[in-house]
Amino acid sequence: DHGLSEADPEVSSIIKKEKERQFKSLELIASENFTSRAVMEAVGSCLTNKYSEGLPGKRYYGGNEYIDELEILCQKRALAAFHLDKKKWGINVQPLSGSPANFEVYTAILNPHDRIMGLDLPHGGHLSHGFMTPKRRVSGTSIYFESMPYRLDESTGLVDYDMLEKTATLFRPKLIIAGASAYPRDFDYPRMRKIADAVGAFLMMDMAHISGLVAASVVANPFEYCDIVTTTTHKSLRGPRGGMIFFKKDPVLGVDLESAINNAVFPGLQGGPHNHTIGGLAVCLKHAQSPEFKAYQNQVVSNCRALANRLVELGYTLVSGGTDNHLVLVDLRPLGIDGARVEKILDMASITLNKNSVPGDKSALVPGGIRIGSPAMTTRGFKEKEFIAIADFIHEGVQITIDAKGLVSGSSKLQEFLKFAASSDFLLTDKVS
Ligand code: PLP
Repeated sequence: DHGLSEADPEVSSIIKKEKERQFKSLELIASENFTSRAVMEAVGSCLTNKYSEGLPGKRYYGGNEYIDELEILCQKRALAAFHLDKKKWGINVQPLSGSPANFEVYTAILNPHDRIMGLDLPHGGHLSHGFMTPKRRVSGTSIYFESMPYRLDESTGLVDYDMLEKTATLFRPKLIIAGASAYPRDFDYPRMRKIADAVGAFLMMDMAHISGLVAASVVANPFEYCDIVTTTTHKSLRGPRGGMIFFKKDPVLGVDLESAINNAVFPGLQGGPHNHTIGGLAVCLKHAQSPEFKAYQNQVVSNCRALANRLVELGYTLVSGGTDNHLVLVDLRPLGIDGARVEKILDMASITLNKNSVPGDKSALVPGGIRIGSPAMTTRGFKEKEFIAIADFIHEGVQITIDAKGLVSGSSKLQEFLKFAASSDFLLTDKVS
């Protein structure tokens, strides 16, 4: 049996290049992180070889005594990491990732074409919360369920709870979804609970982005108000790629969530669980209960605040004016540029972040903002000082983008530049450096 570099030099060399890219760049994508060596060791282990359809003690394959032990340990650690009473909350650690976890919840508690309300994607929501355009039902969620998104108040950048309440009263959804991919503030869970109760809907929180912050109690706790909480495991939680579903043990709206959700995961939508991921997740959830993890999450939030404050000092407009969590959303439209160009220019300088739509964007193809997250570089040891420097680097990139746009968009300017560039004078001197 050969090691990777010997067995497959091609793949081995791609991994080497990717590793170098990850470690040499400033990684600011809000949904990414660097997991630990211990987690990667578990993910790269023999656990990947085993089939174990079903739940611990109720498997469809033999040879699962250690896999049962592992999954039970992972479940226990998940409940402990989120400070949950095992009499009140149950967990399924088998979802393959965040989108499948969400779809599993929908199929568990809804009938096809039941109504749902999640935050609209251009306002920070996730595809799996029911995104559709006027022309097309884009995500599976909007194909199989009737989706009426709620939105932000564009003047404040905050969720428009009044409008959510009005719309929910008319639309009568069976499920309201809290949570987002690009929302820098906490959700108002008590208000959402009230709205859900008034219309007889389930309330679910998709805490994928902020689950590490929730575990460390540095943001509001969704478990106090929601019936179901889903998450990915690879973002601020810093585990392997995967998903989890937490559910109330007592029936909600007459539904036994435990059996409905467990059955939706398997046999409903998945086959054998990824035991190597469950192994890595158990390791991550042990770490998530440590004082170091709490300190890390506090630093994630302070770093993000330092970044936000510096950007405001530099004159930038932030959606909602700032941040309560691990990300900021910068509205670049006042500068006359878009997020796509800035993403590209910063990529050339090994600063990795992503273009993002901001409330009021006319086109989803040319989003007017960028999303910047602090979890990954905080894992690399960056503190407030370094995040202030990051804001300054981003500012330089934005200035270059503005200059470059002026150069190519004014055609007379471009002609002038081309004439200038064609002159020998230009080629022989260092007038443009
Ligand atoms: N939910 C939220 C809020 C997300 O931001 C994401 C991914 O970015 C997901 C779900 C989907 O997770 P995955 O990419 O693991 O399917």
